[in-house]
Amino acid sequence: MKWKLTCRDAGDGSGDVILELPDDLLQAAGLAKGDTLELDPDPDDSSAIRLMKVVRCDVCDASTAETGHGVLQAQWRDGERERMQLCRSCFGYAMATLKHAHWVNHMFDDDPDPGQED
Ligand SMILES: [Zn+2]
Repeated sequence: MKWKLTCRDAGDGSGDVILELPDDLLQAAGLAKGDTLELDPDPDDSSAIRLMKVVRCDVCDASTAETGHGVLQAQWRDGERERMQLCRSCFGYAMATLKHAHWVNHMFDDDPDPGQED
């Protein structure tokens, strides 16, 4: 989808620009008030900018703007929800740590562990 928006001067002498994002744009882009956005020129259209949501890793606080992010998420039957957004490094560490811990806990089991099949 494409939107054409109007920028206006913040009017405080700072040179800042105010860009009002309509609700349908926020909803379509999965954005919410409080999100941090990064502006990049659109490589396909020199008159357009790309707004990218900046997600910070919940563990190390690194920006995931360049690599994207992984999500570790749970929705338990009692209604509790847990969610972590992780940078590539922390996500890789979590995956490797979980697999290794499972392997250590079951390395002397008599039966082959179906959880170790990749
Ligand atoms: Zn991280």
